[in-house]
Amino acid sequence: MEFASKNEYMSRISRVIISADEIRQRLPVAGKFIDDLYDGHPILLVSILKGSFVFLSDIARCVTVPCEIEFMEAKSYYEGTKSSGVVNITMDLKCDISNFHVVMIEDIIDTGRTLANVIKLLKTRKPLSFNVITLLDKPERRVVPISADLSLFTIPDLFVVGYGLDYGGYYRNLPYIAEYSE
Ligand code: 5GP
Ligand code: MG
Repeated sequence: MEFASKNEYMSRISRVIISADEIRQRLPVAGKFIDDLYDGHPILLVSILKGSFVFLSDIARCVTVPCEIEFMEAKSYYEGTKSSGVVNITMDLKCDISNFHVVMIEDIIDTGRTLANVIKLLKTRKPLSFNVITLLDKPERRVVPISADLSLFTIPDLFVVGYGLDYGGYYRNLPYIAEYSE
């Protein structure tokens, strides 16, 4: 994808759905959720790359109990702005999670397929407990009946970018969540 100008690049951003301020105000809820899980056993925040890297870095700074951070990568293949249904785990965790309270940090739950796949894999490794925090939830689009333990924002069936979420690799660095349209 190429853009002739910054104007062309930004012309695909049709409107802001959730502002940077609104996101900032909700982050402490996620921090408190994680703090409350602490019972003397370590907490492991698992970020699903790439979409959740911004959310993870903000959440991590709201946590005050001992925690470690690990990354895995799952790719859901897209045809334009619609999920194809194919999910691949392209990078696995590099540590044993059996001694951790695991908290998965997700950017968005759409059809639910990515989350269902990752949960199935991680639960076979017997973590002490398992929770999922998602920034965004699009319940209207669900194919697999699954939900997060904490969801910061519910949004309608729109394709959104920003705050980690991309279109064709772009727009992840926008500080807000916006609707993308061509
Ligand atoms: P699911 O497997 O739940 O259908 O999709 C989850 C993944 O699809 C997300 O982690 C994200 O990478 C991508 N996705 C789903 N909806 C959107 C959206 O509105 N915008 C962007 N940029 N990615 C999305
Ligand atoms: Mg993702």
